[in-house]
Order: sequence, then structure tokens, then C-alpha cells
Amino acid sequence: MNQAMAKLYFRYGAMSSAKTVNLLATAHSYEVQKKKVVVMTPKIDNRWGEGKVKSRAGLHRVADVLLTADTTFPAEMLAGVSCVLVDECQFLDPCVIDRLRYITINSAIPVICYGLRTDFRARLFPAVRRLMEIADNIEEVKTTCTFCNRKATMNLKSVNGAATMVGPTVCLGADELYAPTCYAHFCEKISESSGGGPIDFKAAWEAGDEADSKQAAAGCRVSKLRRQDSEEDSKRPRLGGA
Ligand SMILES: [Zn+2]
Repeated sequence: MNQAMAKLYFRYGAMSSAKTVNLLATAHSYEVQKKKVVVMTPKIDNRWGEGKVKSRAGLHRVADVLLTADTTFPAEMLAGVSCVLVDECQFLDPCVIDRLRYITINSAIPVICYGLRTDFRARLFPAVRRLMEIADNIEEVKTTCTFCNRKATMNLKSVNGAATMVGPTVCLGADELYAPTCYAHFCEKISESSGGGPIDFKAAWEAGDEADSKQAAAGCRVSKLRRQDSEEDSKRPRLGGA
């Protein structure tokens, strides 16, 4: 084991919880000390134009590395780097999380991942599950519910003003589509728009898996994330050497 092992951090929060502002501020802190950071973001997040790490507060910078399931981190990429910052990590393939973990061991560089905890069906993203499993340090970036003053833990999706748990897991949107809410308001809004009664999360998840399969069949790589998860297990790099 490398004595100089650095930490893998996961900073999670609901939509609009200033995760990206936090990332940009962290990058700035390093850079004013003349320390180099590498900013990475999934290749699929093209809300703001490909490779842009942009907060709703208006700050932005261009990502140094666009991550796909095939991205590796050669020594040249990390030469002289003091910290690796990853935005929107929920959209990564879980195998990339294991490779980021490797950076903290092999190169002794801390890696800080920012992302949502759950999707709009209140289910962990595959990459986030992996982060929960192997991160050293897990911190919440807090924000309040859109409808009350409780802490937001959920991401409510709305289409044409109606709350919904329908559709593929990854359909990138901004404020007009997703809102941070507390659990009570999430349930209230979903229940209202689906004719009342308790939420059947299991049914929503199954329908979501089906929507993801359809999206995948239509050729969208992103949507295969969840389905690839178990296949990727066998391909994950192993810690501790061969
Ligand atoms: Zn609320």
C-alpha cells in the first residue's frame, strides 16, 4: 500500500444545491496558491455546451477532461496536479469511479466528486452507489425544499408543470424540469399528479428500467449505465495490484 494515499471525496446534494459553485470555489482556492487542478465532467452532460462546468450562479470554466466509460488516467494527465475535481459524477459509468479511486492510491492525488445522490425516482445512480461504497469522505451539500424550509433530499421532475416519475433515468434538464424537495413534498406532488394515494416506488423503478432499455436500444449510450452495472463488475480494476 502506498503510504501517501490521498482521499476520495464524494460531495452530494439535490438539484440546485450549489455543488458546482463549491467545485469552482475549490478549484479557485488551489489556483490562487499556484497549485494545478484538473476539472473533469461526463462527456454526456451537454446542458451548457459540451465540456462546460457551469453553475446556475453564472460561474463557469471549461472542463480539462471529458469522461466516458473508456477514459483512463495516464501519469502525463496527472503530472504536477494537486487535486482532481469531478462534476456531475452521477452520470459516470461506475467503472470510472474505481479508476478515480486508483488516482488517490497510485498518484496520491485527492479526488473530489460532486453529484446528485438519487434520480427523480429516488434511486441511487450506479456511479453514486459506487462512491458510497468506496469514498473516504462523504459530505452533503445542503439546500432547502422548493416548497418549504426543510432540507431537500429529493429531485422532483416536472413536465409541463406536472410532477412525474416517468421517463428514462438520464434526460438532462435544468431548473424548469427538476426541483429540490423534501420527502413529504416529493410524495405530495407525485401523488397529486397521479390521482392520489401512496407512491409505488417499485413500479416506478421497473417502468424506469424499461424506459432506459428503450433509450439504450435507440442508441443512447448514457442510458445503458444502469444495465451495464453488473457486467462492469467483472471489468473493474482490482485494488492492491495483480
Ligand atoms: Zn418541502
